[in-house]
Order: sequence, then C-alpha cells, then structure tokens
Amino acid sequence: MPYSYEAPVSQTLFDRASLVTPGGVNSPVRAFRAVGGTPRFMVSGTGPYLTDADGREYVDLVCSWGPMILGHSHPEVIAAVQEAVSRGTSFGTPGEGEVALAEEIVARVAPVEQVRLVSSGTEATMSAIRLARGFTGRAKVVKFAGCYHGHVDALLAAAGSGVATFGLPDTPGVTGAQAGDTIVLPYNDLDAVRRAFAAHPGEIACVITEASPGNMGVVPPRDGFNQGLKDLCAENGALYVSDEVMTGFRTSKAGWYGVDGVTPDLMTFGKVMGGGFPAAAFGGRADVMAHLAPAGPVYQAGTLSGNPVATAAGLAQLRLLDDAAYEKVNAVSREIQGLVSEALTKEGVVHRLQTASNMFSVFFTGAEVVNYDDAKKQEAFRFTAFFHSMLAQGVYLPPSAFESWFVSTAHDERAVERIAAALPAAARAAAEATA
Ligand SMILES: *Cc1c(COP(=O)(O)O)cnc(C)c1O
Repeated sequence: MPYSYEAPVSQTLFDRASLVTPGGVNSPVRAFRAVGGTPRFMVSGTGPYLTDADGREYVDLVCSWGPMILGHSHPEVIAAVQEAVSRGTSFGTPGEGEVALAEEIVARVAPVEQVRLVSSGTEATMSAIRLARGFTGRAKVVKFAGCYHGHVDALLAAAGSGVATFGLPDTPGVTGAQAGDTIVLPYNDLDAVRRAFAAHPGEIACVITEASPGNMGVVPPRDGFNQGLKDLCAENGALYVSDEVMTGFRTSKAGWYGVDGVTPDLMTFGKVMGGGFPAAAFGGRADVMAHLAPAGPVYQAGTLSGNPVATAAGLAQLRLLDDAAYEKVNAVSREIQGLVSEALTKEGVVHRLQTASNMFSVFFTGAEVVNYDDAKKQEAFRFTAFFHSMLAQGVYLPPSAFESWFVSTAHDERAVERIAAALPAAARAAAEATA
C-alpha cells in the first residue's frame, strides 16, 4: 500500500483537542465515531487534495461537506479573499459585497425575490421557520425523518412510532415544548403530509424539506414529491420551505430548483455560497420577506451577517460557477460513481448507488432507499471497512455511511486514477467485512 495507516501527529493533536474540546472536535461527525479510528487533522488543501498533519495527501471526496465545489485554494477565490481582507475584516455596517452576493443569488434562483444573509445554514433554517411562523401566525412545522436542517431546536426532533407522530426531542436540551410543534413524517410520503394537514387544519405554518436530501445519504425526491408538497402547502395556507443549504449552487446553477423547477415560498442556502467561509442565506417571496425586521415585525439579526471577507469568497466562487463548471463536476461525478459501482459489483458487494445531480452516495443494501428507515437497513459495517481501506490508500470519504460524497471541478484524471487504484482493495474489504 502506498500509504501507511498510522497517523501519529493527528493522534497527538486529537489527544490535545480532547482535553479542551468535547470529543475533540467542533462538529460531531468529524470525530470518526461512526467508523472508528483517528480523525485526520488537515493542514492544507489544493485542488482535489488534502494534506494531513502527518504529511499524507488524500483525494478529497468530502470537499468540506460540499462548499469546495471548485476544489481547495482556487486561485481566483483566494485572490478575492486577500483583496477583501486587505480592506478590513468587518465593519458592522452595510457594504457593497453583500449587495452583490444577494444580487447574484436573486439572479440565479428565480423564486428568490429577496434574500437575507446569515452566517450558517442552521441560522438560515432557524430564521426561515421563525419567518414562516410570523407570516402565517401558525405554530406547527412539518419536517421529514432523515432530513437535516442544522441544529435548530425545533428541527432536532425525530418521529416516535406511528406515521404522523409529534416530534420527540432528539437530544437532551431540546424541550418537549420546542419539539412539540414539530410534526415528523416519513420522507417521500405525500399521503402522510396530506393526513397531517387534515389532522391540524389551520395550524401548520410550513413544511420544510431538503430540496433533495443528502444527510441520510443521497435520497432524491420521487417524481412529483416536491410539487406535491408545494401544492398541499398552497391548498392549506402553509409555506413550502426548501432547504437548499447542501444542494444550492451545487446541483446546478440554481441548485435543486434548477433541476426540478418547483417554486418554494422560502429557500435556505449555505455551504457553496460561502466559498469556504461562514456565509448562508434565506430568501424567497418578497411579500413574505417583507415581514422581516426592519421592514416588518419578525426579528432577525447578526453581528457578522454579510461579512465582507465571506461575501467576497462566496461571490468569487459563484461567479466561477458557470454552465461549463457544472458540466465538469457532473461528468467527473458520473465517472467516479461508475468506478465505485463497478468495483463493488466485481467483488459481489450488494449495494445501491443513489444520485442527485453530482451528489451521490453508496448504500450497502439491495433495495431502493426512499426514506430514512430504508437507509438505516443498510449494512453499515461494510461501509466502515470500505472507508478505512480507502483512507489507508489516500482517499478521504465522508466518515459515515449516511452522508453524500462530494466532488469538485478540480477532480482531474490524476485524482480519478488514484480513486480507481484504491477501489479494488476497498471493495474487497467491504465484501469480507462482518457485522
Ligand atoms: C449543512 C446543512 C445545514 C446546516 O448548515 P450549517 O452551516 O452546518 O449550520 C442545514 N441544512 C442542510 C440541508 C444542510 O446540509
């Protein structure tokens, strides 16, 4: 194997981190708990590659969980950031960069007539839900099991037994009251949504959904599902909130809206639009957005919202994301998908590759995965073996079987060849894995 598996410097850093930070990380999935082993501490990234603290290089198939769609350290993004930094890092006043970024978002995504910038996807969905409740004067929110909308209290609720149960808190610290207005339904099940509206007439403020879910692995909406949600919301006076934090500006120039054309009332963005910096947004119908302070009564604010460095990075990245860029990402994604599936098939590993534009993931199951229950039926232990073999051979996958894989315009033939070279042994490891 070209890569030794030990990571002594990362281990030392992880030990240090674990003393001063809970679990040693600032976001749980980074800790490798789902797969075990030492999380790799990265020190630099260039194009499709990351280099860890032990000096080992990896082909990166996480891309910072989506944002780095142009690869790491894209020269034009870096130049825009350096130029912005040279003028100062935060003013606490309006600035031209945030206007330009808002204009770019409005120009790309037709349903967004007005947009408010924030600093994280969590803030975007939290604010969109507050606005939906403020606009409709209703309390209840419908979400789907397996859809992740950030760590918003009201959205950290999972279904109990039964189809249309009220949310129970998913985590200590979220009260029954915070989760109790959340109705959690199985994904891709319009009848469940219909029944929820019938059971709670005039009470549901909004339905929030990932435009195409990528946080339970890739589970795209069935034909007509998003349109059905939109129609049910319209019939019942609720808002349809499409969470495009992951898919926005990744799955097409206009995100998943550019793929399925279903018009939401509100949308949320993050990840790609920040160019690797904390920038996110929510936006949509002008009459709804007019309810937001200071234009309207629904309060929302942020000291660093529209930060000049973050907006410069995001704007530079979006401006580079033209049709040719998406064709390139889609093409390399298809190529890698084909290689992965071929290698697993060759070793007789039962699997299902699911895609949403250039997002994809592998489920270690034979059946189609249409919701979270299906996703959980996979043989995740095979992923663990596959993951560690790829890691040892210098390919960095998401450290969980329930995450999308991400590629970038920088994933060139050399990077693809390195993935291809690692796949046979990883597929064999998946085949030989035992629970
Ligand atoms: C990542 C993500 C979020 C949360 O964004 P953060 O910036 O991590 O707060 C919300 N919704 C979706 C669909 C996401 O993928």
